[in-house]
Amino acid sequence: AKSTGKGDYAWFEFAMEEKADRQRILREELSTALEKNQLYLNYQPIVCTRTRKIICFEALLRWEHPTRGLISPDEFIPVAESSGLIEPIGRWVLQQACAEATKWPNTIRVAVNLSPRQFTGFGLAADVMRALEQSRLSPHRLELEITESIFLTDTQENVRILNQLKHLGIHIALDDFGTGYSSLAYLRCFSFNKLKIDRSFISDMSSTPENLAIVRAVIGLGKSFGAVVTAEGVETEDEMACVTQEGCDQAQGYLLGRPMTAHAVGDMLVSLPTN
Ligand code: C2E
Ligand code: CA
Ligand code: CA
Ligand code: CA
Repeated sequence: AKSTGKGDYAWFEFAMEEKADRQRILREELSTALEKNQLYLNYQPIVCTRTRKIICFEALLRWEHPTRGLISPDEFIPVAESSGLIEPIGRWVLQQACAEATKWPNTIRVAVNLSPRQFTGFGLAADVMRALEQSRLSPHRLELEITESIFLTDTQENVRILNQLKHLGIHIALDDFGTGYSSLAYLRCFSFNKLKIDRSFISDMSSTPENLAIVRAVIGLGKSFGAVVTAEGVETEDEMACVTQEGCDQAQGYLLGRPMTAHAVGDMLVSLPTN
């Protein structure tokens, strides 16, 4: 067989170096992105499966870089987390999302993603309360999305913070459910208001028996814990029919609406029939 090992390795080393370089540059540029107004939020609707009425908008962070263009949060959030920049950026996201939601009908919530790194500093609960106070948004209209990775370290302390937030009336959702470390034990530590089933299980659900089985099990689990179950990444009418049929309460995905600017949300809400 032809040996390409050496060449492949050189290429691999080069690619690694490039990635490290790019991350270093991104970290530097991200540190001024906030003050340069390069960050903004998009909002994606989450609807009731039965009525298709909007229940919530999830705030999704965007970085419009002046020369590189739009950078995906999947690329820059990890950079923000490893550099500590997630703390000021996370605070800004909370304030911005709460302020925006006060312009919507008061039946509609806003969901904000929290990084595990925001739990390690001391001020998360205080930051959330300040964002609510400054915007005068009711705590009942705020939902916080976390992933199970926050249970890997400082479990008791993080559960204490979650309970503190929940007692204010804020909803707590478990994001990307079914991916990651997949130990169900943490479901005993904290009682979530919502489970969001990851998109990877929703795709091809009707033609992939394994996905359907997992979705069914998660819905049953969610129901038995008294949690609302949301299907993420619904892209087709077929998937929508399937998640509705299986008993998902809510759905989110390109079929129901793409992430859009705050301005587009405003336009969409005025064009909706009242009740
Ligand atoms: P996530 O929280 O799981 O957000 C859902 C992602 O799926 C979003 O990607 C959304 O645009 C995308 N999506 C929604 N519906 C569909 C669909 O039907 N098909 C497909 N293919 N994708 C769909 P986005 O906006 O690129 O965000 C990626 C991730 O970045 C988020 O995943 C979240 O983990 C993180 N993120 C975004 N904004 C924030 C933030 O403000 N703070 C933190 N800590 N993380 C954030
Ligand atoms: Ca999310
Ligand atoms: Ca998710
Ligand atoms: Ca995700």
